[in-house]
Amino acid sequence: MSSCENAGFPPAPPPPFRPHPFLWVPGAGERHASAIAARRHGEVVTSLCGNEIRADDSVLAWLWRTCPACDAEAHRLATRTAR
Ligand SMILES: [Zn+2]
Repeated sequence: MSSCENAGFPPAPPPPFRPHPFLWVPGAGERHASAIAARRHGEVVTSLCGNEIRADDSVLAWLWRTCPACDAEAHRLATRTAR
């Protein structure tokens, strides 16, 4: 074994589970979908319905109704990528 192999570092974590090219982001009173993951509460991302959404990571935000326009676009993307 080479002395450089792994060099004592832990193995890299596996990539995040992401079955679709969008993620759900609660914000502005609805659950929107976005191609960009919000990494923290308050981060602004562009949703699939074309709005700038400030991510809300509060417990009840995940229970808000789904934005109809994001839902339609998410279904279009999901069935397009389905195998
Ligand atoms: Zn939306």
